[in-house]
Amino acid sequence: MKAAVLCGRRKMRIDSIDTPRVKDYDVLIRVKAASICGTDVHFYKGEVGKYAPKILGHDFSGVIEEVGKNVREFSKSDRVIAEIVRYCGNCNFCKAGNYQICMNASYMGFDIDGAFAEYVVAPAKNVFKIPDNVSFEEAAVMEPVALALHVMDFVQPKIGEAMAILGQGPVGLVQTQIAKLCGMKVIAVEQKEERLKLAREFGADYIINPTKQNLKDAVLDITNGLGADFCVEAVGLQETVDQTVEITKKGGKIILVGESKGLRGPPIRHEDMTWFALSDGGTNKYPIALDLVSKGKINVKRLITHEVALDKLPQTMESLADGKMVAIKVVVKP
Ligand SMILES: [Zn+2]
Ligand SMILES: [Zn+2]
Repeated sequence: MKAAVLCGRRKMRIDSIDTPRVKDYDVLIRVKAASICGTDVHFYKGEVGKYAPKILGHDFSGVIEEVGKNVREFSKSDRVIAEIVRYCGNCNFCKAGNYQICMNASYMGFDIDGAFAEYVVAPAKNVFKIPDNVSFEEAAVMEPVALALHVMDFVQPKIGEAMAILGQGPVGLVQTQIAKLCGMKVIAVEQKEERLKLAREFGADYIINPTKQNLKDAVLDITNGLGADFCVEAVGLQETVDQTVEITKKGGKIILVGESKGLRGPPIRHEDMTWFALSDGGTNKYPIALDLVSKGKINVKRLITHEVALDKLPQTMESLADGKMVAIKVVVKP
Protein backbone atom coordinates (compact mmCIF):
# COMPACT_ATOMS: atom_id res chain seq x y z
CA MET A 1 0.00 0.00 0.00
CA LYS A 2 0.95 3.64 -0.36
CA ALA A 3 1.85 5.53 2.83
CA ALA A 4 3.40 8.86 3.83
CA VAL A 5 6.40 7.83 5.92
CA LEU A 6 8.12 10.29 8.25
CA CYS A 7 11.79 9.34 8.06
CA GLY A 8 13.48 12.18 9.92
CA ARG A 9 13.07 15.78 10.97
CA ARG A 10 11.07 17.54 8.23
CA LYS A 11 11.56 14.52 5.95
CA MET A 12 8.50 12.71 4.70
CA ARG A 13 8.21 10.55 1.61
CA ILE A 14 5.51 8.59 -0.14
CA ASP A 15 6.50 4.94 0.05
CA SER A 16 5.13 1.57 -0.87
CA ILE A 17 4.96 -0.64 2.22
CA ASP A 18 3.23 -3.86 3.28
CA THR A 19 -0.49 -3.53 3.96
CA PRO A 20 -1.02 -4.24 7.68
CA ARG A 21 -2.59 -7.59 8.61
CA VAL A 22 -5.64 -8.04 10.80
CA LYS A 23 -5.47 -10.12 13.96
CA ASP A 24 -8.52 -11.92 15.32
CA TYR A 25 -10.09 -8.90 17.04
CA ASP A 26 -9.03 -6.26 14.47
CA VAL A 27 -10.52 -4.65 11.41
CA LEU A 28 -8.64 -3.43 8.33
CA ILE A 29 -9.89 -0.01 7.24
CA ARG A 30 -9.38 1.57 3.82
CA VAL A 31 -8.75 5.21 4.68
CA LYS A 32 -11.06 7.69 2.91
CA ALA A 33 -10.08 10.87 4.78
CA ALA A 34 -7.60 11.80 7.52
CA SER A 35 -7.15 15.26 9.02
CA ILE A 36 -3.87 16.89 10.02
CA CYS A 37 -3.68 17.78 13.72
CA GLY A 38 -1.33 20.35 15.26
CA THR A 39 0.45 17.45 16.94
CA ASP A 40 1.28 15.95 13.52
CA VAL A 41 3.05 19.19 12.60
CA HIS A 42 4.98 19.09 15.92
CA PHE A 43 6.09 15.54 15.10
CA TYR A 44 7.04 16.55 11.57
CA LYS A 45 9.21 19.37 12.89
CA GLY A 46 10.86 16.97 15.35
CA GLU A 47 9.57 18.95 18.36
CA VAL A 48 8.02 15.91 20.05
CA GLY A 49 8.67 12.19 19.92
CA LYS A 50 11.53 10.25 18.43
CA TYR A 51 9.56 7.66 16.56
CA ALA A 52 10.66 8.16 12.94
CA PRO A 53 10.35 6.37 10.60
CA LYS A 54 6.65 6.24 11.13
CA ILE A 55 3.24 7.01 9.74
CA LEU A 56 1.41 9.95 11.32
CA GLY A 57 -2.34 10.59 11.32
CA HIS A 58 -4.77 9.82 14.15
CA ASP A 59 -8.10 11.43 13.20
CA PHE A 60 -9.58 9.63 10.19
CA SER A 61 -12.47 7.81 8.58
CA GLY A 62 -12.77 4.97 6.12
CA VAL A 63 -14.46 1.79 4.98
CA ILE A 64 -13.92 -1.66 6.45
CA GLU A 65 -12.05 -3.87 4.01
CA GLU A 66 -11.58 -6.98 6.17
CA VAL A 67 -12.61 -8.17 9.64
CA GLY A 68 -10.68 -10.46 12.01
CA LYS A 69 -12.23 -13.85 12.67
CA ASN A 70 -13.58 -12.92 16.12
CA VAL A 71 -15.17 -9.63 15.08
CA ARG A 72 -18.98 -9.81 15.05
CA GLU A 73 -20.15 -6.19 15.22
CA PHE A 74 -18.69 -4.99 11.91
CA SER A 75 -18.62 -6.22 8.35
CA LYS A 76 -16.95 -5.35 5.07
CA SER A 77 -18.00 -1.97 3.59
CA ASP A 78 -19.12 -0.45 6.93
CA ARG A 79 -18.28 3.28 7.10
CA VAL A 80 -16.27 3.81 10.30
CA ILE A 81 -13.85 5.85 12.38
CA ALA A 82 -11.39 4.51 14.98
CA GLU A 83 -10.22 6.37 18.04
CA ILE A 84 -6.58 7.04 18.70
CA VAL A 85 -5.83 5.40 22.07
CA ARG A 86 -5.09 1.65 22.19
CA TYR A 87 -5.99 0.57 25.71
CA CYS A 88 -5.57 -2.71 27.53
CA GLY A 89 -9.00 -2.99 29.18
CA ASN A 90 -7.45 -4.66 32.23
CA CYS A 91 -5.53 -2.03 34.19
CA ASN A 92 -6.91 -0.09 37.14
CA PHE A 93 -7.83 2.95 35.00
CA CYS A 94 -9.47 0.96 32.21
CA LYS A 95 -11.56 -0.96 34.75
CA ALA A 96 -12.64 2.31 36.34
CA GLY A 97 -13.91 3.49 32.94
CA ASN A 98 -11.07 5.89 32.16
CA TYR A 99 -9.35 4.15 29.31
CA GLN A 100 -7.88 7.43 28.00
CA ILE A 101 -5.32 7.20 30.82
CA CYS A 102 -4.70 3.43 30.46
CA MET A 103 -1.39 2.40 32.04
CA ASN A 104 -0.51 0.36 28.97
CA ALA A 105 -1.75 2.81 26.36
CA SER A 106 -0.23 3.32 22.96
CA TYR A 107 -1.43 5.79 20.36
CA MET A 108 -2.15 5.58 16.70
CA GLY A 109 0.03 7.94 14.68
CA PHE A 110 2.40 8.26 17.66
CA ASP A 111 3.86 4.88 18.62
CA ILE A 112 1.67 2.82 16.26
CA ASP A 113 1.40 3.51 12.52
CA GLY A 114 -1.30 6.03 11.72
CA ALA A 115 -3.76 6.93 8.99
CA PHE A 116 -1.73 8.88 6.41
CA ALA A 117 -1.78 5.70 4.33
CA GLU A 118 -4.18 3.72 2.17
CA TYR A 119 -4.98 1.23 4.93
CA VAL A 120 -4.87 1.08 8.69
CA VAL A 121 -5.61 -1.65 11.25
CA ALA A 122 -7.57 -1.00 14.46
CA PRO A 123 -8.99 -3.19 17.23
CA ALA A 124 -12.76 -3.53 16.74
CA LYS A 125 -13.34 -2.12 20.26
CA ASN A 126 -11.86 1.20 19.02
CA VAL A 127 -14.15 1.44 16.00
CA PHE A 128 -17.47 3.31 15.60
CA LYS A 129 -19.90 3.40 12.68
CA ILE A 130 -20.45 6.74 10.93
CA PRO A 131 -24.08 7.92 10.62
CA ASP A 132 -25.23 8.00 6.96
CA ASN A 133 -25.55 11.79 6.82
CA VAL A 134 -22.00 12.44 8.06
CA SER A 135 -19.38 12.66 5.30
CA PHE A 136 -15.98 10.95 5.45
CA GLU A 137 -14.37 14.40 5.60
CA GLU A 138 -16.47 15.47 8.61
CA ALA A 139 -15.91 12.11 10.32
CA ALA A 140 -12.16 12.70 9.99
CA VAL A 141 -12.44 15.71 12.33
CA MET A 142 -13.79 13.97 15.44
CA GLU A 143 -10.82 14.34 17.79
CA PRO A 144 -11.46 18.04 18.54
CA VAL A 145 -15.10 17.22 19.32
CA ALA A 146 -14.15 14.32 21.62
CA LEU A 147 -11.65 16.59 23.35
CA ALA A 148 -14.17 19.41 23.84
CA LEU A 149 -16.64 16.91 25.32
CA HIS A 150 -13.92 15.62 27.65
CA VAL A 151 -13.30 19.19 28.84
CA MET A 152 -16.93 19.32 29.99
CA ASP A 153 -16.32 16.30 32.29
CA PHE A 154 -14.05 18.61 34.29
CA VAL A 155 -16.02 21.82 33.89
CA GLN A 156 -19.52 20.51 34.72
CA PRO A 157 -21.00 23.92 33.89
CA LYS A 158 -24.15 25.57 35.06
CA ILE A 159 -26.27 27.51 32.56
CA GLY A 160 -24.98 31.04 32.13
CA GLU A 161 -21.48 30.48 33.51
CA ALA A 162 -18.70 32.13 31.52
CA MET A 163 -15.99 30.24 29.66
CA ALA A 164 -13.04 32.09 28.15
CA ILE A 165 -11.43 30.08 25.35
CA LEU A 166 -7.91 31.11 24.41
CA GLY A 167 -7.28 30.14 20.80
CA GLN A 168 -9.93 29.59 18.12
CA GLY A 169 -8.17 26.97 16.05
CA PRO A 170 -9.96 23.65 15.41
CA VAL A 171 -10.03 22.77 19.13
CA GLY A 172 -11.16 26.22 20.30
CA LEU A 173 -13.81 26.56 17.60
CA VAL A 174 -15.35 23.23 18.58
CA GLN A 175 -15.06 24.11 22.30
CA THR A 176 -16.99 27.30 21.55
CA GLN A 177 -19.82 25.29 20.00
CA ILE A 178 -19.92 22.70 22.81
CA ALA A 179 -19.93 25.42 25.48
CA LYS A 180 -22.86 27.12 23.75
CA LEU A 181 -24.71 23.76 23.62
CA CYS A 182 -24.23 23.64 27.42
CA GLY A 183 -25.81 27.08 27.83
CA MET A 184 -22.58 28.85 28.73
CA LYS A 185 -21.49 32.40 28.01
CA VAL A 186 -18.51 32.15 25.65
CA ILE A 187 -15.63 34.61 25.44
CA ALA A 188 -13.58 33.66 22.37
CA VAL A 189 -10.01 34.94 22.23
CA GLU A 190 -7.93 34.77 19.04
CA GLN A 191 -5.47 36.89 17.07
CA LYS A 192 -6.68 35.88 13.59
CA GLU A 193 -9.75 37.87 12.54
CA GLU A 194 -11.21 35.20 10.21
CA ARG A 195 -11.19 32.70 13.08
CA LEU A 196 -12.88 35.20 15.40
CA LYS A 197 -15.55 35.70 12.75
CA LEU A 198 -16.15 31.97 12.67
CA ALA A 199 -16.29 31.88 16.50
CA ARG A 200 -19.00 34.56 16.33
CA GLU A 201 -20.93 32.47 13.77
CA PHE A 202 -20.65 29.49 16.11
CA GLY A 203 -22.35 31.50 18.83
CA ALA A 204 -19.53 33.12 20.85
CA ASP A 205 -21.09 35.88 22.97
CA TYR A 206 -17.93 37.98 23.05
CA ILE A 207 -14.87 37.98 20.81
CA ILE A 208 -11.54 39.45 21.80
CA ASN A 209 -8.50 40.03 19.62
CA PRO A 210 -5.66 40.44 22.14
CA THR A 211 -3.52 42.29 19.59
CA LYS A 212 -6.15 45.04 19.52
CA GLN A 213 -7.51 44.99 23.09
CA ASN A 214 -6.00 44.36 26.50
CA LEU A 215 -7.10 40.79 27.23
CA LYS A 216 -7.35 41.06 31.01
CA ASP A 217 -9.26 44.37 30.93
CA ALA A 218 -11.67 43.07 28.30
CA VAL A 219 -12.49 39.86 30.19
CA LEU A 220 -12.86 41.64 33.53
CA ASP A 221 -15.14 44.15 31.86
CA ILE A 222 -17.39 41.40 30.49
CA THR A 223 -17.48 39.51 33.80
CA ASN A 224 -18.18 42.42 36.18
CA GLY A 225 -14.59 42.47 37.38
CA LEU A 226 -14.63 38.82 38.47
CA GLY A 227 -12.97 36.91 35.63
CA ALA A 228 -14.36 33.93 33.75
CA ASP A 229 -15.67 30.91 35.65
CA PHE A 230 -13.64 28.65 33.39
CA CYS A 231 -10.73 29.20 31.07
CA VAL A 232 -9.72 26.77 28.32
CA GLU A 233 -6.21 27.16 26.93
CA ALA A 234 -6.25 25.83 23.36
CA VAL A 235 -3.09 27.46 22.02
CA GLY A 236 -0.21 25.59 23.65
CA LEU A 237 2.18 28.46 24.36
CA GLN A 238 3.68 29.38 27.74
CA GLU A 239 2.45 32.95 27.28
CA THR A 240 -1.20 31.91 26.95
CA VAL A 241 -0.91 29.31 29.74
CA ASP A 242 0.32 32.13 32.01
CA GLN A 243 -2.50 34.45 30.88
CA THR A 244 -5.20 31.98 31.98
CA VAL A 245 -4.70 32.97 35.63
CA GLU A 246 -5.25 36.66 34.92
CA ILE A 247 -8.68 36.14 33.36
CA THR A 248 -10.09 33.33 35.54
CA LYS A 249 -12.07 34.21 38.64
CA LYS A 250 -11.16 33.11 42.16
CA GLY A 251 -12.32 29.54 42.66
CA GLY A 252 -12.43 29.03 38.88
CA LYS A 253 -11.06 26.20 36.79
CA ILE A 254 -8.41 26.29 34.09
CA ILE A 255 -8.22 23.51 31.53
CA LEU A 256 -5.17 23.07 29.31
CA VAL A 257 -5.95 21.37 26.02
CA GLY A 258 -3.26 22.93 23.81
CA GLU A 259 -0.01 21.04 23.29
CA SER A 260 1.30 21.71 26.80
CA LYS A 261 4.12 19.16 27.12
CA GLY A 262 7.28 20.89 28.30
CA LEU A 263 5.38 23.98 29.50
CA ARG A 264 4.99 25.07 33.11
CA GLY A 265 1.50 25.00 34.62
CA PRO A 266 -0.43 28.24 35.15
CA PRO A 267 1.11 30.40 37.94
CA ILE A 268 -1.79 29.90 40.36
CA ARG A 269 -1.76 31.66 43.75
CA HIS A 270 -3.88 31.02 46.83
CA GLU A 271 -7.26 31.74 45.30
CA ASP A 272 -8.89 28.31 45.25
CA MET A 273 -8.23 27.91 41.55
CA THR A 274 -7.65 24.50 40.06
CA TRP A 275 -6.15 23.52 36.75
CA PHE A 276 -6.31 20.39 34.63
CA ALA A 277 -4.12 19.18 31.77
CA LEU A 278 -6.17 16.83 29.66
CA SER A 279 -5.17 13.66 27.96
CA ASP A 280 -6.76 13.27 24.58
CA GLY A 281 -10.42 12.75 23.80
CA GLY A 282 -11.60 11.04 26.99
CA THR A 283 -13.45 7.77 27.29
CA ASN A 284 -16.27 6.87 24.91
CA LYS A 285 -16.68 10.39 23.50
CA TYR A 286 -16.37 9.52 19.80
CA PRO A 287 -19.89 8.08 19.39
CA ILE A 288 -21.33 11.19 21.08
CA ALA A 289 -19.22 13.39 18.79
CA LEU A 290 -20.51 11.58 15.68
CA ASP A 291 -24.09 11.90 16.90
CA LEU A 292 -23.76 15.65 17.56
CA VAL A 293 -22.42 16.22 14.04
CA SER A 294 -25.13 14.00 12.56
CA LYS A 295 -27.87 15.97 14.39
CA GLY A 296 -26.43 19.29 13.19
CA LYS A 297 -25.55 20.43 16.73
CA ILE A 298 -21.84 20.75 16.00
CA ASN A 299 -20.40 21.98 12.71
CA VAL A 300 -17.00 20.58 11.73
CA LYS A 301 -17.49 21.09 7.99
CA ARG A 302 -16.69 24.80 8.29
CA LEU A 303 -13.34 23.96 9.89
CA ILE A 304 -12.11 22.11 6.77
CA THR A 305 -10.27 24.73 4.75
CA HIS A 306 -8.17 22.44 2.54
CA GLU A 307 -8.27 18.97 1.01
CA VAL A 308 -5.09 17.40 -0.40
CA ALA A 309 -4.20 14.07 -2.00
CA LEU A 310 -1.93 11.71 0.00
CA ASP A 311 0.78 12.18 -2.66
CA LYS A 312 0.88 15.89 -1.80
CA LEU A 313 1.18 15.37 1.98
CA PRO A 314 4.99 15.87 2.19
CA GLN A 315 4.75 19.33 0.53
CA THR A 316 1.67 20.16 2.60
CA MET A 317 3.41 19.30 5.90
CA GLU A 318 6.35 21.47 4.87
CA SER A 319 4.05 24.42 4.05
CA LEU A 320 2.29 24.02 7.41
CA ALA A 321 5.62 23.73 9.24
CA ASP A 322 7.04 26.92 7.76
CA GLY A 323 3.76 28.79 8.15
CA LYS A 324 3.22 29.34 4.40
CA MET A 325 -0.08 27.49 4.47
CA VAL A 326 -2.74 29.13 6.60
CA ALA A 327 -5.37 26.52 7.36
CA ILE A 328 -7.83 25.54 10.06
CA LYS A 329 -8.16 21.86 9.13
CA VAL A 330 -6.48 20.09 6.23
CA VAL A 331 -8.01 16.78 5.21
CA VAL A 332 -5.83 14.24 3.39
CA LYS A 333 -7.47 11.91 0.86
CA PRO A 334 -5.54 8.70 0.04
ZN1 LIG B 1 -4.60 15.30 17.49
ZN1 LIG C 1 -5.57 -0.15 30.62
